[in-house]
Amino acid sequence: MITEIKTINERSIAEAVKILRSGGVIGMPTETVYGLAAIGTDSRAVEKIYEVKGRPSDNPLIAHVHRDYDIEKLVFVEQDYIPRLMNEYMPGPLTLVMRSRGIICKEAVCGGDTLALRIPSHEGCQALLRAADAPIVAPSANISKHTSPVTARHVYDDLNGKIPLILDGGKCSGGIESTVLDVTEKVPRILRAGLITREMIEKVAGGCEIAEHKDGDKVKSPGVKYRHYRPRCRTALFKEDEIEEAKLLYDKETASGNRAYIMCRTPLANYFEGKNLLLLGTGGEEIASNLYERLLQGEKEADIIIAIDMPREDGVYLGITNRLRKSCG
Ligand code: AMP
Ligand code: MG
Repeated sequence: MITEIKTINERSIAEAVKILRSGGVIGMPTETVYGLAAIGTDSRAVEKIYEVKGRPSDNPLIAHVHRDYDIEKLVFVEQDYIPRLMNEYMPGPLTLVMRSRGIICKEAVCGGDTLALRIPSHEGCQALLRAADAPIVAPSANISKHTSPVTARHVYDDLNGKIPLILDGGKCSGGIESTVLDVTEKVPRILRAGLITREMIEKVAGGCEIAEHKDGDKVKSPGVKYRHYRPRCRTALFKEDEIEEAKLLYDKETASGNRAYIMCRTPLANYFEGKNLLLLGTGGEEIASNLYERLLQGEKEADIIIAIDMPREDGVYLGITNRLRKSCG
């Protein structure tokens, strides 16, 4: 199969809709990461997503709808804080897990009774969702366990020959996957941290818990138990107070003829003068938006990425450290 990358516009969207309606899967941009899309009511098409990605069959997909879609067609909106959360943060990088009405096929929800639902804010994605006039389910458009793609080219690098079309909507502005929030109970619970933070949710919903995922627990969000975001090169992770150790490893690797790169916050750059660097930026949002791009750049150029962990875990940093530790730890 030949994989084409086409700029997202009226014409390429019409083509995408044709493919989707005939049971195909395509790459689509969102503001978080690129998605691998299929019509959410089409079991065969959804099975293709799992085949193409090599995704474990117990890891459910997120359904995406446009901003004027009546979500009560798909789910039961049971908690009074849900409309407030939607008003404040949707469209945007927030996914709500609610009780499903069973319209989205069982393959997409892995036979479960809940559905994860999101309204992307990416304008091109909105236009696609409107044109398709159906909910679209999509996981990140990468081979399972690899780093999530934030450009059309990244999708191509992973899925070339496996899908017919990738809609190119530019680099994703968010850069990490959406916050997944369980809203089936009185207090919302974060299943996967992201750009919509605990603090932001608390402000609107009055409270917010963070799900702990311990080994042996019955997992509520299956995706978090898998290793994720792994670049295709060796990695190491050091704390910010282990800069000397990181430098030692860098020098040792370089002395053995390996190409080493340090990945760190931009303010730390002066500790690593003269070394190969993958700089992440300064503020939390900037770091999130650069993280996967630097990992994907790093795996192409480096034999080993030596990453320096973040100094904090509040706000957006919770989502960043989760991913950084899963990719490099
Ligand atoms: P991805 O599509 O790769 O961004 O992964 C989607 C994430 O949402 C995974 O961590 C899934 O486990 C999680 N997810 C999707 N649907 C549900 C659901 N119904 N209940 C809980 N978590 C879900
Ligand atoms: Mg993913």
